[in-house]
Amino acid sequence: MTKYLFRDDAYLKSCTATVTECGDGWIRVDQTVFYPLGGGQPGDTGSLSWDGNDARIVDTRYVDRDIAHFLEEGASAPAVGTEVRLELDWDRRYRHMRMHTAMHLLGSVLRYGVTGGNIGADKSRLDFDMEDPVDKEAAGAALADLVAADHAISCRWISEAELDANPELVRTMSVQPPRGRGAIRLLEIEGIDLQPCGGTHLRSTSEVGAVRIGKVEKKGRQNRRVNIHLDD
Ligand SMILES: [Zn+2]
Repeated sequence: MTKYLFRDDAYLKSCTATVTECGDGWIRVDQTVFYPLGGGQPGDTGSLSWDGNDARIVDTRYVDRDIAHFLEEGASAPAVGTEVRLELDWDRRYRHMRMHTAMHLLGSVLRYGVTGGNIGADKSRLDFDMEDPVDKEAAGAALADLVAADHAISCRWISEAELDANPELVRTMSVQPPRGRGAIRLLEIEGIDLQPCGGTHLRSTSEVGAVRIGKVEKKGRQNRRVNIHLDD
């Protein structure tokens, strides 16, 4: 099983690793800083280098329930056992982290059930189970306040037994944790949001920076799609 370095430190931009498996157009390594597609966040891209060779990593996804790094078409892959260096397209990933964190904030501004979402480097969207129209100006101002207030963000792991022993934790969570895997990763934005999440987040809300609410689309009678943009 690959060691997911991004889970403990989302700010790691590169790492060395050993190739453990080669698939059809992809490789697996013993540890990685690359986030795989999931939870609405795209898989990371970047570069792979070894012994004077290099190749682009064009996508990162789960294959057989572990992370696979997909190489550009036609690239020759390093053999199993090769020492490689992986380096993220950091600008893109950092925008995903800003967007992902902004989505948590938006979910705390609009306190409705979330029915879907998608993160991009320039534009993201969150779908809400809501009949009321969205007051864009008020929501945008509330979002900007949360960013400016610079709330600390942290992740921690707890066991299902710990969760059961602390029912107040479940009550304060905006999303119920998935059961049956033993350990649950909680994302906490101090005083704002507590929920299970496996994504990559910022250290504090001020790093979200210039975020703006864009178009709000009506998707059916009881669904509102809220688009957000990064203005830099
Ligand atoms: Zn998250």
